[in-house]
Amino acid sequence: MAADRLIVYRDAALADGAGPSLRKGVSVLVRDRRIEWIRPTSDEGALPRDVRIIDSGGSTIVPGMVDAHSHLTLPGGSHWIDRGADPPEELLEVAEHNGDLLGRAGVRWARDVGSPLAVDPRDGRRRALALRVRERWRSDSARPRVRVAGTWISHSGVLTGGLLIEADDGPALLKAASTQLDDGADFLKLYLDGPKKEEAPWSTEDVRAVVDLAHGRGAKVTAHSGFLVGARVGIDAGVDSLEHGFELDSDAVAKMARQGTFLVSTLAIFRSWATFAQTTTLPRFVSDEGKERTARRRERAIESVQLAHRAGVRIATGTDFGGGSLRANHLAWEVEALVEAGLKPAEALTSATIRGGELLGEPEAGRIVERGPADFFLVHGDPLSDASALWRVWKVAWLP
Ligand SMILES: [Zn+2]
Repeated sequence: MAADRLIVYRDAALADGAGPSLRKGVSVLVRDRRIEWIRPTSDEGALPRDVRIIDSGGSTIVPGMVDAHSHLTLPGGSHWIDRGADPPEELLEVAEHNGDLLGRAGVRWARDVGSPLAVDPRDGRRRALALRVRERWRSDSARPRVRVAGTWISHSGVLTGGLLIEADDGPALLKAASTQLDDGADFLKLYLDGPKKEEAPWSTEDVRAVVDLAHGRGAKVTAHSGFLVGARVGIDAGVDSLEHGFELDSDAVAKMARQGTFLVSTLAIFRSWATFAQTTTLPRFVSDEGKERTARRRERAIESVQLAHRAGVRIATGTDFGGGSLRANHLAWEVEALVEAGLKPAEALTSATIRGGELLGEPEAGRIVERGPADFFLVHGDPLSDASALWRVWKVAWLP
């Protein structure tokens, strides 16, 4: 229908993520899913024939967000680890549901940082399930745009379930990395927590060899980092980003800032766990000891983000939905958590949009510009001064 190809969003406010304050009284003309122009509503000029006008008064146009730490095939919730062992066909259905949730929450891009290995019935090979999701969604413009890491690469004795690749020394690590790239992973995900909290699972040289291999093949490397000792190895080895970074210190963040290493924050995990003290019977969350442990780790994680922010580290945001306990429509919670950690709401929104795009190497992601994709959504309220506005989604431009 012609009217669906040509739309004016009229009299909205605009939060393009690049500046600290709203532009008001803005009209945006979209043609074939691209932004043709952005003009003052008072000076739209002549409109094309057959244009459909959407009265956007009282809402704010926001760039489609980037969930930089997601697990598309997993549902989340308090039994999030168990759910990884569900049958692959069910996990593929979960991914479809998550795709709906992401879109409706204004998330345009999802960076999948780990999915279970499963046999692909088409060729009998075991590969990461999210690669199949990527293929399914590639030609559907209403689906999230995705980048996929393949499966987790971890030392043995750390993650349970046998749904990932284990590597206990340098050569095994390099082989695992190579296999993931052969399978079609867009980037690699290393798990830099070892079986012992105080020891990294691999040496800096071992990890650097993986970074060199990946970069040589045009791929990036990211690393799960729960503890400082692993973070140091990752940073020294030159990984492109750290996930979580729950235990960083001033030396670590200074080097990250110098090198351009991204931090993907996932602070809302602790908010989620705090709710489980009320809503579950799991001792890990309900016991005094468990609650205390969560509170302690949360405080340390917030401190790490504060250090990184002050040092000038580029921070992207993630929910860790599925691989953690959040759900796929909760990215606003992480933006709120960054504000609690001391970022201004506008800075936190930049993390969830432009920084995410930079992390992906997608210059158009998280931005609203003339001639760019019409990947924006509309919320009720001003997210540049109040992050909670991001929960109040009214319309998503890329969805019917
Ligand atoms: Zn995760």
